[in-house]
Amino acid sequence: MADPIKTRLYVDSPLAEGQSVGLDHERAHFLRHVLRLDRGDPVAVFNGRDGEWRAVIDGFGKGWCSLTVAEQRRRQDVTPDLWLLFAPLKKGRIDFVAEKATEMGVSRLWPVFTRRTDPNRVNIDRLRANAVEAAEQCERLSVPEMGEAVPLDRALADWPADRKLYLCAEAGSARPIAEVLRDAPPGPAALLVGPEGGFDQSELDELAKLPFVVPVGLGPRILRADTAVVAALACWQSLTGDWTAGGSDRRPPFRAPIP
Ligand code: SAH
Repeated sequence: MADPIKTRLYVDSPLAEGQSVGLDHERAHFLRHVLRLDRGDPVAVFNGRDGEWRAVIDGFGKGWCSLTVAEQRRRQDVTPDLWLLFAPLKKGRIDFVAEKATEMGVSRLWPVFTRRTDPNRVNIDRLRANAVEAAEQCERLSVPEMGEAVPLDRALADWPADRKLYLCAEAGSARPIAEVLRDAPPGPAALLVGPEGGFDQSELDELAKLPFVVPVGLGPRILRADTAVVAALACWQSLTGDWTAGGSDRRPPFRAPIP
């Protein structure tokens, strides 16, 4: 088991032994003045393609830091191909959605405007920054891609036929999510969660007509949109996703105390 390195950084550079990686002023400042790291200290780096590598700090300069990549610590894994389509929420809540969806392994975060969506614009850079931070913290080897914020009907226009879209429908007679997912075929999937004001009934009716849309219920209570995101993702991951593969392979197995 490789020695634990506390600092993980997502970098957008190829990773191979001896490769030099430059960090921008924000990251240089974070390593030097927040974490108080110095030349020779190790950090873990990942780029979503080449697994995780140990890298060593070469040095700091005015607003930059350079690392030299040493050896690979973890091979690249594959996260389930699960998209989250969600109606943009107010600032704090949308940050929460980006962070939680990343921790819960989505491969794409896709903000979509529905009829009752309140914010009419989305700060994609802010979403991405939340996702990167969450990916570094939860030891993912990838960062979700960001879909362009578009009206829902545009996102569904040329929808891939092999991808099921589970519509979290707070109204109507959707089957319980666990029942639907228990019979779900493996393969690419997506979850859709509406805005704080919920879906228009006309929207639900139109969506239910699409062959790839499967309405699902999240119980008898009306959940806040950010709650619904976490609840639906937890169900999907535990019933058909990578929570079925047991816990993290990087922590010693849990050992019950010997009586
Ligand atoms: N209409 C409610 C809130 C909608 S909740 C209101 O105005 O307060 C926001 C989104 O969360 C919904 O559009 C739906 O996608 C999801 N959601 C909330 N509760 C749900 C439930 N019990 N079943 C399925 N989806 C739910």
